[in-house]
Amino acid sequence: MAPRSQRRRHKKPPSLVAPVVVTPPKVVTPVPLTLSKPGPSIDALGFFSLEDNVPGLPQLILQKLNMKSYEEYKLVIDGGTPTSGFGFRCLQEMFQKMEDTFRFCAQCRVLPSGLSDSRVLRYCKRCRNVYYCGPECQRSDWPAHKRVCQVLRLVAVDRLMEWLLVTGDLVPPSGPWPWPAEVVQGWDTWFSMRGLQLDTTLNAVLCSHAMTTLWASVRQPRPGSDVLQGSLKRLLTDALSRPLTLGLGLQSLRIDVGKAGGSTVHVVGASHVETFLTRPGDYDELSYMFPGHLGLRVIMVGVDVATGFSQSTSTSPLEPGTVQLSSHKGLYHDFWEEQVETGNVAHPDLVVGFHPGFHSSPDLMEAWLPTLLLLRDYKIPTLLTIYSHQELAASLQILVDLDMHITAYGANPFTSLKPEQVYSNPNKQPVYCNAYYIMFLGSSCQL
Ligand SMILES: [Zn+2]
Ligand SMILES: [Zn+2]
Repeated sequence: MAPRSQRRRHKKPPSLVAPVVVTPPKVVTPVPLTLSKPGPSIDALGFFSLEDNVPGLPQLILQKLNMKSYEEYKLVIDGGTPTSGFGFRCLQEMFQKMEDTFRFCAQCRVLPSGLSDSRVLRYCKRCRNVYYCGPECQRSDWPAHKRVCQVLRLVAVDRLMEWLLVTGDLVPPSGPWPWPAEVVQGWDTWFSMRGLQLDTTLNAVLCSHAMTTLWASVRQPRPGSDVLQGSLKRLLTDALSRPLTLGLGLQSLRIDVGKAGGSTVHVVGASHVETFLTRPGDYDELSYMFPGHLGLRVIMVGVDVATGFSQSTSTSPLEPGTVQLSSHKGLYHDFWEEQVETGNVAHPDLVVGFHPGFHSSPDLMEAWLPTLLLLRDYKIPTLLTIYSHQELAASLQILVDLDMHITAYGANPFTSLKPEQVYSNPNKQPVYCNAYYIMFLGSSCQL
């Protein structure tokens, strides 16, 4: 099952992406980071829906990425080899073109191609994030923009710094947790626990060659260390939000992680976001959360999981203390029938869905319904995450109407702290991944 929030599909474009597999010496291949959280199989809709907000934007993005069509873009985020002309000659060009995909007037939506020769789009000097075709547009937009200008500054720094995650220069600290998981109630305690080790990691990144190269390649001054450190921390919370939210589910729903052969988590409605650029070590933090566990098997199921991701969903016993990541391309209820019921794949001890978004449209609800009913009727402990308080209320209402037995809901202590801008509508209040959660178990009628 897979669809995601309709709203989500309007967010970041493929471009912003994070970039890059640097293939030295000449070609820099950008790796578009997925329309950030696109809807599976409906990515194209999401991509072209940018057109509604800013006419001409999808074409501009493809052009800047040196891609001929949406199909080519899709091929690349699926892990395929693009056809011709893809890639940039150098980092400067890549960053420049990425920035170019943001160049439209935030007020009148005009693109550079729509301006007369003497006029150019200039960015807001405070946030360096949104552009205007002239002082009139900037003035009329200010009442709306001033509410988000400050947070959009953070977004503008983060979208450049994300490159360090892709190149592998920013790696979350690892190693067993010195504190028990019950004590680590959220990011504050997590940061304190990782304290010195984290400082060393962040300082190393701040002084790294990669950081110097990054800021030498973009046409703007390098911000101060405190700004860069803040960004690195937000990026870490973003990278670790998924594994730690999964851990929250295991903990709160009291899942036995001492099961011989290993415990199993299914991530339902998984997409590029969960699988593209996800490396085997990315879930190590989950392992450290449960010292002494006998193996954790995480299977990403969705129609848009990246093709390059491990497809091996074997049921053979896991080594104690290890996390095995794998994926299955398909809808969850089909996967259940074909793989779980036949015993090819381990029965889930927990199911997690990141931003299912079924509250946002009847189509998505229809797509999710068989999965929700299956999870309810088989009494599978389930955790879902949601972007905003408003969406939380709408999702809860739907689940209550389906007679789900809600065991808990609220603000997620392991939400990503990295703000997500609505790309083609930049003055919309940014949201945060996994900001809220809902947990349910079976049906309220039976209890
Ligand atoms: Zn304008
Ligand atoms: Zn601004």
